[in-house]
Amino acid sequence: PLQGLKTWKQYAQDKDLPHPAAPLAGNIIDNTNNESLSDKISIFNGDITNLKIDAIVNAANSRLKRGGGVDGAIHKAAGKYLQDECDSLNGCETGHAKITGGYELPAKYVLQTVGPRGEQPEALKACYLNTLRLATENNIRSVAFPCISTGIYGYPNEAAAHVAVYNVRKFLERESDKIDRVIFCIFLEVDKNIYQQVLQTYFPVV
Ligand code: ADP
Repeated sequence: PLQGLKTWKQYAQDKDLPHPAAPLAGNIIDNTNNESLSDKISIFNGDITNLKIDAIVNAANSRLKRGGGVDGAIHKAAGKYLQDECDSLNGCETGHAKITGGYELPAKYVLQTVGPRGEQPEALKACYLNTLRLATENNIRSVAFPCISTGIYGYPNEAAAHVAVYNVRKFLERESDKIDRVIFCIFLEVDKNIYQQVLQTYFPVV
């Protein structure tokens, strides 16, 4: 199911990306186990609805009503029964996450999370951590995240990438045995470079 996806480590080595000289000030990087953690991270450039993995994450709205952006793409690819299931869930608060089926998607599940509008780091952090916790509670071992809140909700891309990658790192430091792969699904050119840089910071490839 993960065919064709390189780990972050393979990706960085193929591109000959340098190891960062020093972590950014204030970052807590504990190099214990770093090698195996980097092996659990991938970048995927493209449409998240194509991924045949356990779960893809949706940047949903609090009513769980089909909208635009990645949410529209996921509903379109999943078919109408996804909205029916969403309608039975009584919405979802910002920073929280709920699980639905994947229906006609290649992914088995959709983890619906609601990002903040604008730059609200605590709420965005909650999205990543609550989504990963929901994944592990459901024996989901491979998860792909879109760049939550950075589209219609207007979170600045680089700031959002730091929150995303840092908190995935912190989660994996605690629970890496429950997750095989976390994929950052990059849809826009602007996020490609940002994620390459940010991943080198939090998942340095030695
Ligand atoms: P939000 O409302 O949380 O900002 P958006 O869907 O507007 O959500 O944007 C979140 C990110 O998802 C943006 O980077 C956007 O370019 C990206 N995106 C849009 N369509 C897709 C898709 N089919 N697959 C993956 N990412 C997508």
